[in-house]
Amino acid sequence: MKKMLFVFNPHSGKAQIKNSLLKIVEVFSAAEYEVTVYPTKAARDGYQHILENAGRYDVVVCSGGDGTLNETVGAILDYDGKKPPIGYIPSGTTNDFATSLNIPKDMVRAAQHIVDGAPEPCDIGLVNGKRSFNYVAAFGAFTEVSYATPQGLKNMFGHQAYVMEGIKSLTALKPYYMRIQTDTEEIQGSFIYGMVSNTESVGGMKGLTGTGIDLQDGLFEVTLIKEIKSPLDLQQLVTGFITQNFEKCDMVYSFKTNKIHFESVVPVSWTLDGEFGGEHKEVTYEVLPGAVEFLVKKRKGITNKLNKIN
Ligand SMILES: [Mg+2]
Repeated sequence: MKKMLFVFNPHSGKAQIKNSLLKIVEVFSAAEYEVTVYPTKAARDGYQHILENAGRYDVVVCSGGDGTLNETVGAILDYDGKKPPIGYIPSGTTNDFATSLNIPKDMVRAAQHIVDGAPEPCDIGLVNGKRSFNYVAAFGAFTEVSYATPQGLKNMFGHQAYVMEGIKSLTALKPYYMRIQTDTEEIQGSFIYGMVSNTESVGGMKGLTGTGIDLQDGLFEVTLIKEIKSPLDLQQLVTGFITQNFEKCDMVYSFKTNKIHFESVVPVSWTLDGEFGGEHKEVTYEVLPGAVEFLVKKRKGITNKLNKIN
């Protein structure tokens, strides 16, 4: 029998898992897994538990929001030996990354995808050579909202909470002057928002993270929104958000890279996968290509590449 460690956050997403836990475990058991269930007790507990159990399980499944997934990936990355594939059952409010991985919102169906799925390598992001992130590092206008919104509000309004706070903060945007460097680009300017991502959507919005997104191409998409200096600038930007199309928008600068360095005079707050990621005057993000494997079912019509959008 294959051994599975199933770690979940019992409080994530309105404690949604309590209605599905038995069925989830049954799905795993029916697929010949011997399941060890571990509810997390506090932040970082999932990371510790998974790390302490290195080498003991064939598969590690986690359920929770972005934080739980981040801890799971972080622990697997820290394994010295063989890294088991990861199964993910999302239970948070906005599940951008899960959607990018073609994971169903229904928890029992997500469990079924794990047992029916195959390991697919996925790129992971690394911050200043230390901490990892799964799909987005961002600063500025629309990022402070997700960690400034209390958990209770997040659960109550779900995705709407982010949007409402986002519109509210449009009126008080603070630009950050930054020097940004990659192997091929050097950019200086004032930006109200910046994002380094490997996902099809952020905050439930598609289109903002660029085109031709591939979770295993060894590249991040970089999106920079320039400072708003005129009503025309604002109008352009709002149009971009309404149409969810930023390709023709002069206010948005976007490109792909595998490594990027940001420098600013004042410390800038960053979010990592929607959680507070610290303040930095200098920060480097780099891709760890195919660093972990996720057990996923590929989408119909997509043969070799996971998540290829044209
Ligand atoms: Mg990519």
